[in-house]
Amino acid sequence: MPTARETTVEREASLTGTSLHSGAKVRLTVKPAGSGFGYQFRRMDLADQPTIPAFLEKVKQVERATTLAEGSVKVSTVEHLLSALRGLEIDNALIELDANEPPIGDGSASPFLELLSQAGRKELEAPRSVFQIKEPVWVTAPDGGYMAALPHEGFKVSCTNSNHTPHHTQFLSIEVGADNYAKEIGRARTFVFYEEVEPLLAKGLIKGGSLENAIVIRGESVMSKEPMRYPDEFVRHKILDIIGDLALFPLPIRGHILAAKPSHGLNLQFAKALLKAYRAYQSSLMPVENVPVGERALDINDVMKILPHRYPFLMVDRVLRFEGDTKGMP
Ligand SMILES: [Zn+2]
Repeated sequence: MPTARETTVEREASLTGTSLHSGAKVRLTVKPAGSGFGYQFRRMDLADQPTIPAFLEKVKQVERATTLAEGSVKVSTVEHLLSALRGLEIDNALIELDANEPPIGDGSASPFLELLSQAGRKELEAPRSVFQIKEPVWVTAPDGGYMAALPHEGFKVSCTNSNHTPHHTQFLSIEVGADNYAKEIGRARTFVFYEEVEPLLAKGLIKGGSLENAIVIRGESVMSKEPMRYPDEFVRHKILDIIGDLALFPLPIRGHILAAKPSHGLNLQFAKALLKAYRAYQSSLMPVENVPVGERALDINDVMKILPHRYPFLMVDRVLRFEGDTKGMP
């Protein structure tokens, strides 16, 4: 059941593993955080232990994985951990790690599901806000891919992973919540195409990569260390990545997400379009048509046309000048 209040983890919990790109050992700890904190990564291996918030504005790279950066500080491949957090409806957490990416595990969100089940979930005081889709929002990609959000009471994803080969195209439409995320989505592993990873392996760019943490597709055949976990595991992993990338949007989303050929790039482009729609919706709640352009004073009658006449606006009886579009000086 979706919770009516914000949540965090109940206690701290840690895991260790190997990072995908550098092959280095990494220790990751998840810690409780207060309401409004969101998800923040702290690099314990760097001087001053800098923190990067998991915000859309901090995304610097979307090829093959989602990378957050602030100045020279980076955290890569954040999407599977963020997917597990958002999927289990944990809204706030501090994530400490001593490398530039979380462990890759088995290429799914499984290690993080285990970590978060050890950490538990607890409700905070603050009521949980969500972004309810009221008008359709969509983005398209040059390769025919698209993503759209339609009004819907819960959170539903309908996705197809249609790709450059005629093989292994799958479709799934599923209502996702904390009660079924782990079972239906979180265990689906990453898949890669042989022709795409072979040059990366040759260049040593994915030192931690192996059949232990990805399914490799070569033509019609599928190479995997263990049998497929679901007959439609590929599209389920695409949904896992969508949930992880949309966790960079500041609020949980209520709506029906449609996705064809999603990628990290398209997911993030879509999240930005949602943010624009969200900001437009927020500003529509304020009547702005009477606000003069440029610098001009407003007297009490002008103020009463613009501001709701209730606390805390009750005390504003005039506006002396405006600074830019957003700041009025009472
Ligand atoms: Zn993924």
